[in-house]
Amino acid sequence: MPGDDDPLPKVTLSMLRDPRRGCSWRLSRTYAGATGNRGGTGRWVVRDRLEEAIRHAHATGGDPRSRLRTVDDDSLGVEERAVLAAALAWYAELFPDAVEILPAAGWEQAFEEPGVRLAGPAPLVVRPAGSATPGGGAYGGGATGSGPTGEPVEIRMLRLGEAPPAPPIAATPDVRTAILLLDAPVPDRLVVSIADLLHGRRAREDLRGPAARLEAEAWLTSAVEELRSRIADPRPRTGVECGWCPHVAGCPAHRDRLDPAAASPT
Ligand code: SF4
Repeated sequence: MPGDDDPLPKVTLSMLRDPRRGCSWRLSRTYAGATGNRGGTGRWVVRDRLEEAIRHAHATGGDPRSRLRTVDDDSLGVEERAVLAAALAWYAELFPDAVEILPAAGWEQAFEEPGVRLAGPAPLVVRPAGSATPGGGAYGGGATGSGPTGEPVEIRMLRLGEAPPAPPIAATPDVRTAILLLDAPVPDRLVVSIADLLHGRRAREDLRGPAARLEAEAWLTSAVEELRSRIADPRPRTGVECGWCPHVAGCPAHRDRLDPAAASPT
């Protein structure tokens, strides 16, 4: 167990989606803060460019549709540019409104109970342009965080090729993690959207923010308990996830193959 001065163990959204599945050795190494030994795969490049373009278009004000359809990024390959162009076009179709971007707490937040740092993709948080009131924390509008016209704050979760989950999407680990990564206080009226920007699909739900936050906190406690029980007796389990596992070099299941001394005939 960590001492008083040790940072809280980090848990990621992917570890909490279903702690009963996956390799418990890998989960235990990540939970213990072990440094991985595999570089990034680059699979987030298009996703990062997409969010940059969306944030920039909204930050410059007005109707975002005219700015979102052009892709001029020579650092991307032909296929990556095509995916980005399609995603931007679908974003403009599915989210044509003028909004302003609000701060999220970031991609990591500490929770003393159940004693972890929760990490996940920083959510894109918006509200209708011009609906802010002075004061009221990160989301404006006084204690409730909603604007004077009752306009809700919206969390937009953007995906590429992954279908939105079946309703209620508010009960998914992805939405609960996004709610937990919001700055406090959580807005009274909250909309959550999950969109697949390769196929033009969007799921949307209206929530009461404080109640959704309480449910998300209860889920986190229960998911972390399940994770701790899963890694109490860590065992390597080889499978497709070995292909991107950052702990492969220290993994008992692969040690003989990766250690030249063990592999050489004696
Ligand atoms: S390399 Fe495979 S078996 Fe080893 S820790 Fe990673 S996922 Fe588990």
